Amino acid sequence: MRRRVVIGNWKMHGSLESTATLLGGLDLSSLDPEVEVAVCPTSLHIAVVARQLSTDARLSLVKVGAQNVSDAVSGAFTGEIAAGMLTDFGVSFALVGHSERREAGESDELVAAKAAAVISAGITPVVCVGETLAERQAGATELVVLRQLNAVVERIGIEGVEQCIVAYEPIWAIGTGETASPAQAQEVHAALRARLQQLDADLAEKTPILYGGSVKANNASKLFAQPDIDGGLVGGASLKADEFNAICASA
Ligand code: PEP
Repeated sequence: MRRRVVIGNWKMHGSLESTATLLGGLDLSSLDPEVEVAVCPTSLHIAVVARQLSTDARLSLVKVGAQNVSDAVSGAFTGEIAAGMLTDFGVSFALVGHSERREAGESDELVAAKAAAVISAGITPVVCVGETLAERQAGATELVVLRQLNAVVERIGIEGVEQCIVAYEPIWAIGTGETASPAQAQEVHAALRARLQQLDADLAEKTPILYGGSVKANNASKLFAQPDIDGGLVGGASLKADEFNAICASA
């Protein structure tokens, strides 16, 4: 069976006080132990969140992720954070290619280089792919997400992709309250899995493909019930403990 994973992306939200309260509100007692859960705070909050998770026995299974990372190992890159530094702070996952980073100018090639850097540091890249509304309306959804995935494959090869999680996040559904229907999401997930299948049957069978885009407690079960959806990348709803608890339980 494939890994099932739920990752909360807190984006640029939170203070020391509010993140402590949010973590305090997590209740994963009804979570299937097979489901992996992680939260991605801002880089500044990673250390404090990691400490709270490791000292609260109720949350010991929750992992910490990063929202972004440099493709460089070290050097004169003002404001950047290297994957090796994330390892020092116990980070298990790093998002690469989130649409909000791509919109800020990250190319497919840079995203692929970041995935490579993350793998070298022993962290799991969560490779985000997704189309804009205009691209969907032009019938280019598969073309776009496969182009984004292929850039990563070209850079890190099958052995690299084996270390990755893929997240399909239609840009028109992120933070808009507009969710892809389970059938719409499944269609794209199936296309991504078919591409992995072309590369290697085992890779296709094992790689978790998460859905992200306005996942909420009231739509998670139907999305997660689709055969090629292996969990979620959750933005806004991960900032509300009750919502996130329910979404994790749905996985
Ligand atoms: C995200 O930012 O990755 C995301 C999916 O956001 P939201 O759940 O708020 O749409």
